[in-house]
Amino acid sequence: MIERPSCFPHSPTELEIDLDALAANWRFLQDRVAPARCSAVVKADGYGLGAGPVAAALAAAGCRLFFTAHLDEAIAVRDAFSDAGLGTDIEIGVLNGLFPGDAAVLVEYGLFPVLNDLGQIEAWRKFCSDRNQVLPAAIQTDSGMCRLGLPWQEVRVLSEDPSRLDGIEMRYLMSHMASADTPSSPQNRAQLDLFRGQVDALPAATSGAMLAASSAIFLGPDWYFDWVRPGVALYGVAPNGDGPNPMRPVVRLRARIVQLRDVDVPQTVGYGASYVVRGPSRIATVAVGYADGYLRSLSSGTCGHIGARRVPLAGRVSMDLLTFDVTDVPEAALGDWIELIGEHHDVDAVASDAGTIGYEILTSLGRRYRRTYIGGAA
Ligand SMILES: *Cc1c(COP(=O)(O)O)cnc(C)c1O
Repeated sequence: MIERPSCFPHSPTELEIDLDALAANWRFLQDRVAPARCSAVVKADGYGLGAGPVAAALAAAGCRLFFTAHLDEAIAVRDAFSDAGLGTDIEIGVLNGLFPGDAAVLVEYGLFPVLNDLGQIEAWRKFCSDRNQVLPAAIQTDSGMCRLGLPWQEVRVLSEDPSRLDGIEMRYLMSHMASADTPSSPQNRAQLDLFRGQVDALPAATSGAMLAASSAIFLGPDWYFDWVRPGVALYGVAPNGDGPNPMRPVVRLRARIVQLRDVDVPQTVGYGASYVVRGPSRIATVAVGYADGYLRSLSSGTCGHIGARRVPLAGRVSMDLLTFDVTDVPEAALGDWIELIGEHHDVDAVASDAGTIGYEILTSLGRRYRRTYIGGAA
């Protein structure tokens, strides 16, 4: 087990991030899609788990293509690779596009832009021509998200005038799925057909086409193309709507009991007196709250675990503290761990309790936990 510096080394909480499970998840997806290749999306600080350690562990597992949302995130990942002695043969793309002033920075750090409209393509073409260099880029088309990427009118303009790409190496042609987490959605096949048409209409990308993020990988091989581009599945969140989650869990969050109180009626717990004890009870307090990304919407009902035993949340989530009813675990003692996210109640279960998705639970994970990384490259 490697302990990397944490901002809160004395916190009575622990966020454990299993880099070996992360690497195993990447290899699982790579094996599944072969001979297509598997990249990794490490935006939003590696979905909240730390882009540096996450990207280094994935690179050690064999991943050679990474994506972030922002340029600054990509620079941080490049710096992490440099620190780990990894070279610029590892590619990093910036999904959100090319903005004025970015081009020179992209080149300086060995990054490539995902070009999302004809204006960005023209700006990159001009930059390449001014430098007299052929530089790589990905082109993203819109096949149904209506968010980023060339709309069909612009795809047609480009297919009728491919000289707009002169001086650019179109390395990847990509698009993004809107409803892949709902396998029965007719939009999945419609987007696939539309993207196939776009691939046929445009010049061939030197390293190929890509469409699938985590969930679309589980729609089947038609969605693989040359590359897949998963994010959340790598971090252990279920990518496949129904059936058992095939991914290994990557995060475990637990917190020590910092106070134990025996109570009896009449007594309520927490803000708004929303939890009313029904008889002699024990209430355990832990030092995690909504300021740590333990969403306040969990106040409507969730649980922790002491060992394998379930303890219900008692009362509202406050900023820095949570209370659990541990009446049924009489041996619970001050300093004992209560697991908040883990094998008994995983990220997806907590998300469901909060009325959200695993993505939001992970990317909300706060900065005040003591963070421990298990395994990985280092
Ligand atoms: C976030 C994102 C991904 C990864 O999506 P997951 O659902 O987390 O696998 C892939 N491609 C694009 C364009 C994205 O924005």
